[in-house]
Amino acid sequence: MPEPRPALFLDRDGVINIDHGYPYRVEDFDFMPDAAEAIKFAHESGIPIFVVTNQGGIGLGYFDEAAVHRFHAHMLDCISTKGGQIMDIAFCSHHPNAIDPAMRDCSCRKPKPGMIFDLASRHQIDLNRSVMIGDRDTDMAAANAAGCHGLLYSGGSLLPIMMEAVKRLSFTDGSYS
Ligand SMILES: [Mg+2]
Repeated sequence: MPEPRPALFLDRDGVINIDHGYPYRVEDFDFMPDAAEAIKFAHESGIPIFVVTNQGGIGLGYFDEAAVHRFHAHMLDCISTKGGQIMDIAFCSHHPNAIDPAMRDCSCRKPKPGMIFDLASRHQIDLNRSVMIGDRDTDMAAANAAGCHGLLYSGGSLLPIMMEAVKRLSFTDGSYS
């Protein structure tokens, strides 16, 4: 059993891609400023990178899971073309106002930490040494609830906050391999 290691968790909409409002069409995928470069930088530091994203648009009936998978396949292509890599993606399809009452309550929708816990157990991640970058208070709350350090991104180039995250991760663990 490998030793648990620190990781970087990224919110998706408003961090990796521009949040046009429930984006799900491949043609609406646009990187946030320097997002591809920032992910490449973190990847080249050897940090495992994960995405945790609320996709309540599924529960609201705006799009289906297949659309989310297509969007993610395209996003991963765009990221790897630029030299970065995402290890895994978790998304929550629930929403408090979901059409189907069974889709309204869950333990995964941020600010709850379920997606982070799920990824951590599947990939042997040490959450107390991990960092999450998000653009909303709910991302910070999920990070705190999971025991990660949250960094709130307020737009502009993603590089400075990514460098801060990598620096922090380097302090907690000199080697990621
Ligand atoms: Mg966001």
